[in-house]
Amino acid sequence: MNNRQAAHDGLNDAELSQLYQEVILDHYRRPRNKRDIEDTTHTVTMNNPLCGDVIDLLLSVKGGRIADISFKGKGCSISLASASMMTERLKGKSVDEALALSGTFTEMLHGDPAAAEATELGDLRALAGVSKFPVRVKCALLAWNCLQELVGPDA
Ligand code: ZN
Repeated sequence: MNNRQAAHDGLNDAELSQLYQEVILDHYRRPRNKRDIEDTTHTVTMNNPLCGDVIDLLLSVKGGRIADISFKGKGCSISLASASMMTERLKGKSVDEALALSGTFTEMLHGDPAAAEATELGDLRALAGVSKFPVRVKCALLAWNCLQELVGPDA
């Protein structure tokens, strides 16, 4: 290990970006919550024609809380990894908490450095680098647009 690595908790920038890529690929290859759910209260299908991504989001909302959440669909690694990480992060959250996380995630993808530091995003921060690729931002936001469509302020 060299000094530069030691100054970054053992990870240099290249290794950090490699780690993030592995998180994204892991969710792409082994998507979480890609299944049916019981007692679906909300469902929508949205697509991103620029890339060909299609996401169905399913919610079971009980008492203002996301009792269960899942997704189906097809698309690129960014769109599916974002959907998979989103379902893991939002299950059990209140609708208000979910929408607040959606706002922070969207700010991160629009390049807000403070949002990219938000620990409540968890693994979703692995997608911060996507903000440098405007065409892919739509991929990362697709599942979140479904959420907004189902329970957002204009729903
Ligand atoms: Zn895509």
